[in-house]
Amino acid sequence: MGLLLKIFIPLLGAALAFYFYSAPPSFNEGMLRGKRVIVTGASSGIGEQMAYHLARMETHLLLTARTEAKLQKVVEQCLDLGAASARYVSGSMEDPSFPEVVVREAENTWGGLDMLILNHIGHSNFNYFDGNVEQVRRLMETNFLSYVAMTTSALSMLKESEGSIVVVSSVAGKVGSPLSASYSATKFALDGFFSSLRQEFIMDKVNVSITLCILGYINTENAVRAVSHVIRDKPAPKEECALEMVKAGALRQRELHYPPWLVSSAVLLRDIAPEFLDSTVRSNYHVENLKR
Ligand code: NAP
Repeated sequence: MGLLLKIFIPLLGAALAFYFYSAPPSFNEGMLRGKRVIVTGASSGIGEQMAYHLARMETHLLLTARTEAKLQKVVEQCLDLGAASARYVSGSMEDPSFPEVVVREAENTWGGLDMLILNHIGHSNFNYFDGNVEQVRRLMETNFLSYVAMTTSALSMLKESEGSIVVVSSVAGKVGSPLSASYSATKFALDGFFSSLRQEFIMDKVNVSITLCILGYINTENAVRAVSHVIRDKPAPKEECALEMVKAGALRQRELHYPPWLVSSAVLLRDIAPEFLDSTVRSNYHVENLKR
């Protein structure tokens, strides 16, 4: 018995110490209070919902998208919800000079930045690839190069604040699926660039986190309008999705999978049973409804 206790008690102590020191940090809303946050693509959909969550957490917000009238309404709503401050700058990320304009606005207003949420996407047809290379090039500018440009412009401020970058991607950026070749290419590019940059930050002891959000089908108006005639799955709620993304960024998580079971199983199957995954994906697409 004595010997058992001599072994059992240190083992229990070691197990408890392991549990408490290795348990993942948990989120609380105070973590973001007073933080200075840019949200792109904030006039609708998931970006708009992230702005509302961040407003409730009393952050300072700079929102951007093209449509000024919608941004004005989102800013008003953010102020009503409790944002420490909220403003917007409108313009198109198709214009290569616009990312710098947004970041300078943050610098001139706040003199620093804590979180950069890159979420916007340009319009792409949900259809067979039609050979339009110019459209791929434009989408690369909006969905990928502008993310790189904003990160580059914001990096000195983020280094100073030891801040975070949240990059919004998709299952289409991990797994090839039909009818979204150009969009999928831009999302794979985000993974390549930002996963590589994360490694460089670690090697260089740069304390700026990068969270890549891998999303499944979410019930935003634009997504449902674009795909519901082809994909019959029930989309996940944008409000919850947006909250999980804000939390993942605050907790400096490497990747977020939402909805978790769907995305994680797709990523796992891609590696262990790619043909099975491909045929499952194809069987989900009702292309008989598609106008080419
Ligand atoms: P959304 O509702 O279509 O919102 C897109 C946002 O981007 C809007 O604020 C739009 O505002 C802005 N935008 C469009 N073109 C722009 C341009 N040229 N320059 C600057 N801003 C522009 O999209 P969402 O469904 O919320 O998706 C948000 C993110 O989640 C995207 O990165 C998307 O890839 C990802 N995602 C979504 C789903 C889904 O099922 N919803 C699935 C996987 C991943 P303006 O039109 O006013 O510019």
